[in-house]
Amino acid sequence: MAFEGLTEKLSNAFKKLRGKGRLTEADVKEAMREIRMALLEADVSYKVVKDFVSKVSERAVGSDVLESLTPAQMIVKIVNEELTALMGGEDAKLTISSKPPTVVMLVGLQGAGKTTNGAKLAGLMKKQGKRPLLAACDIYRPAAIEQLEVVGSQLDIPVFQMGQISPVDIARAAVEHAQKHGSDMVFLDTAGRLHVDEELMMELQDIKNAVEPDEILLVVDAMIGQDAVNAAKAFDDALDLTGVMLTKLDGDARGGAALSIRAVTGKPIKFVGMGEKLDQVEVFHPDRMASRILGMGDVLSLIEKAQESFDLKKAQELEQRLRKNKFTLTDFYDQLTQVKNMGSLSDIAGMLPGVDAKALEGASVDESALGRTEAIILSMTPAEREEPSILNNSRKKRIAAGAGVQVVDVNRLLKQFDAMRQMTKQMTSPRMKKLAKKGRF
Ligand code: GDP
Repeated sequence: MAFEGLTEKLSNAFKKLRGKGRLTEADVKEAMREIRMALLEADVSYKVVKDFVSKVSERAVGSDVLESLTPAQMIVKIVNEELTALMGGEDAKLTISSKPPTVVMLVGLQGAGKTTNGAKLAGLMKKQGKRPLLAACDIYRPAAIEQLEVVGSQLDIPVFQMGQISPVDIARAAVEHAQKHGSDMVFLDTAGRLHVDEELMMELQDIKNAVEPDEILLVVDAMIGQDAVNAAKAFDDALDLTGVMLTKLDGDARGGAALSIRAVTGKPIKFVGMGEKLDQVEVFHPDRMASRILGMGDVLSLIEKAQESFDLKKAQELEQRLRKNKFTLTDFYDQLTQVKNMGSLSDIAGMLPGVDAKALEGASVDESALGRTEAIILSMTPAEREEPSILNNSRKKRIAAGAGVQVVDVNRLLKQFDAMRQMTKQMTSPRMKKLAKKGRF
């Protein structure tokens, strides 16, 4: 995840403050110097850093912070608030037109992630009950239309294309098509170039004038740092953007773009792309992102992710089975898949407070263990999954070979599963139920 370096350096600066009882102005000055360096190294633009640090210093020295009993905590709080404000303060919503379809135009440089993230966004809207249409207006890049059709079919969202005719005509026809066929949102996937160029901007302006989009979102790659901010400025000057979608924040981008774009262009980041998969998109919440940057975690996003991925009906069924003590390896497998649906363990760990980079490395090891467990369960017959005690040695050998693991791995899983069964038996025993009723646990 982006921001790792920044998080580490900021937390070092705060750690030094925490070690002291009372803070002097000199302590604060030293901390501000470290915060300034940390932000510059994260590729936040110079002017933004300067303004940010002066705001934080003013609040830190000017108020009662130094007098308070917990000055270090107060400074963290101020930095948190100012980071949130820097990224726009409030969440920015997508404008939905009162006269459907809502037209969302996606613009950006080639490779920024327009096609992928336009589809992700359409998928997100579909989950919220909208009926989106994807329109292929990039007629230059070979295979762009095909790529849009592939992602559209993965998400089961219709794709409108007219081959390689004028993008302005395609955009217009797509909106008409949406009106006729009951699509209430149209996402226009436009062409990009390697660099900002005049001809491209004119084409985009023509599309804008022809269909008057409700949203013009710039898709920008967080990995390109300062260049992302420059691109945002150029696109905004030409098109008057309504917002930004920052992609590839899952990578090792230093994160400066996320912190500078709003301040430099005045345009809000509305969404972030967090991976190549089509469900790896998030609404951008400045306050949650600030917490993540400060290593304070993002528990709210984690809860939302869990709610999205966990199937309530399945959870209730599982509860019933547990109560009846009928927990099998099939249930165990279901649980594993649900956890996996939440994203990689390192993504999840990144949202937890106080989890550092070292812990994240460990998480990827666990992920392969998860994969092995899954492979073992899948190599069993349904009857074996229901009642693993029927497995004899030769079957265990076959299963190990099928899953690409050793027999000891199969045995280990069976042992863990047995222990789990014992535990659930105890939890559902009449004695435990009685205790639970009395509120003992
Ligand atoms: P376009 O030229 O702007 O349409 O860009 P594409 O949608 O074709 O994306 C370019 C590349 O970036 C593809 O390989 C995508 O899979 C990848 N990509 C897009 N969004 C993300 C993201 O959020 N994270 C990561 N890691 N890769 C992404």
